[in-house]
Amino acid sequence: MGDFTRFAFALLTRSHLLLAGCARVLGRCRWFVVLFLRHRLGEVQLGDSMDTYDWTCPFCNRGATITTESVHESTTIMTLRNAEGAQALESSFIVCPNSKCKRFSLSVSLLSASQNEHNRWEARKLIQTWQLIPSSQAQSFPAYIPKVILDDYSEACLICDLSPKASATLSRRCMQGIIRDFWRVKPGRLVDEIAQIKDKVDSLTWDAIEAVRKVGNIGAHMEADINLIVDVEPNEAKLLIGLNEMLLKEWYIARESKKTRLSSLVQLAGKKDDVKKQNKT
Ligand SMILES: [Zn+2]
Repeated sequence: MGDFTRFAFALLTRSHLLLAGCARVLGRCRWFVVLFLRHRLGEVQLGDSMDTYDWTCPFCNRGATITTESVHESTTIMTLRNAEGAQALESSFIVCPNSKCKRFSLSVSLLSASQNEHNRWEARKLIQTWQLIPSSQAQSFPAYIPKVILDDYSEACLICDLSPKASATLSRRCMQGIIRDFWRVKPGRLVDEIAQIKDKVDSLTWDAIEAVRKVGNIGAHMEADINLIVDVEPNEAKLLIGLNEMLLKEWYIARESKKTRLSSLVQLAGKKDDVKKQNKT
């Protein structure tokens, strides 16, 4: 992790509200938007140590704090003469800490490599990452969420590394589907639909939704003005996927579990009432 990123995280810890405001003002400064989203989505949990981080298991969907005990990483350096120069291959296993799951995820990354001042080979710049197990990072969501929304979400996950721009476009459409279905907004341009829910959701969520709309727009309208093309990095496409996951959980799943809790309360109250009536007669 670069010094700048570390510095930015330190700043975020102190005043992420302030930074969220900055991100809005500096709409074009994507670093801030990316950092803000990463913090907001819990992808990076700012704690005392950067050795641990929050993670959601793709198999059991449970959140867990990952420590070094759950991770196995190794690096191979390829120094054979070739057109691209020395390469590093990093593999990373993460074992789910949940005792009922314990499944492992596996990803590999290719990086450039060079020697440091002590002639030791080190991995440098990330070239590409492949998620091998499971093959897609899509989480499983309950069937009461409309299928068309879940299809866009799964496809955005599947294509994330291969085509971040296409993935961002799908994430944007997925988010539009969520907003239309969940909030019953009047259909129109996404920017207007988002404006309709401004007073219904908290301001941080709203800012994150706006950020996704802006990045997703690049994919959706890239033919309209070639000057507008800005590459969407795979990690940015992943953040957009993360936002949709957050909305699905905080809106659909939270509403459903509230419904379940309340209806069991009503049933319980009904039973007590029946007992009371029986006792009277
Ligand atoms: Zn698990």
